[in-house]
Amino acid sequence: MTDLPARRLLLVHAHPDDESINNGATMARYAAEGALVTLVTCTLGEEGEVIPPELAHLAPDRDDTLGPHRAGELAAAMAALGVTDHRFLGGAGRYRDSGMMGAPQNDRPAAFWQAGLDEAAAHLVAVIREVRPQVLIAYDPNGGYGHPDHIQAHRVAMRGAELAAQADFRPDLGASFAIGKIYWNCNPRSVVEEGFARLRAAGRAFPGVASVDDVPGVVPDAEVTASITVRAEHAAAKSAAMRAHATQIAVDGPFFALSNDLGQPLFATEHYRLVHGVRGAADGEREDDLFAGVAGTSGSTATAGSARNEEAAT
Ligand SMILES: [Zn+2]
Repeated sequence: MTDLPARRLLLVHAHPDDESINNGATMARYAAEGALVTLVTCTLGEEGEVIPPELAHLAPDRDDTLGPHRAGELAAAMAALGVTDHRFLGGAGRYRDSGMMGAPQNDRPAAFWQAGLDEAAAHLVAVIREVRPQVLIAYDPNGGYGHPDHIQAHRVAMRGAELAAQADFRPDLGASFAIGKIYWNCNPRSVVEEGFARLRAAGRAFPGVASVDDVPGVVPDAEVTASITVRAEHAAAKSAAMRAHATQIAVDGPFFALSNDLGQPLFATEHYRLVHGVRGAADGEREDDLFAGVAGTSGSTATAGSARNEEAAT
């Protein structure tokens, strides 16, 4: 524990690729600044649709080997982002991709959608108590767009944060730890609309164009509390990480498409809503650092020594 970096960021995602699409630039920035960036992915994404025809045999109705393949894609994406701590909730293959809402795969006993909440959250509690993150990034209660695994990932993240702070919950999983700030992923409506205008002006990069309603977590601009801007190299790392998820994402410059072939803007600036903790920016202003206001973490040169002081003081 004493060897932990001063700043520690935890992200909880449903499938390999969600982290790069939602938070790739943020992850690259904080990893480069020396923060510990820990990614917990809840399923292997076994039920995803496969884009490259030559990999179609991986699909669940054929070889059913998409899960291990996507674990490899995730490892490559993390290398692109400079993130070394990535784990699967309960270990790889513990929970299976539940498929889209209403699909028969929702009802499989191994599906993440069927997981007992506290049982699944306990796996996250162990991670939280080990890495003691000051900041957690999760989905909103709708999971951004209603996918059962994203909704469940939201529930597990919030419940895990709650249980990790309770000293009498599973003391065998480590000393209790309270996460200081919790953010939900979001996209400000004006930015998404502007992105689609750019995409339409750029011409036909993809067979079709998605709509604002296809983008997860679109909220009124006023609800956004943090906008994380990054250097060009971190934006490039996000693009490279998305390309590493080749079964799921086709990237073309500042745009990308999922398996529906509908183009979307690729955002280098990522946005968040603070839902727990104290905002580190003046009223009416957005934070530009998720650790803003967290004691002992100012600047990228903060040391483990100051982290110990902070922990001793709380
Ligand atoms: Zn997903």
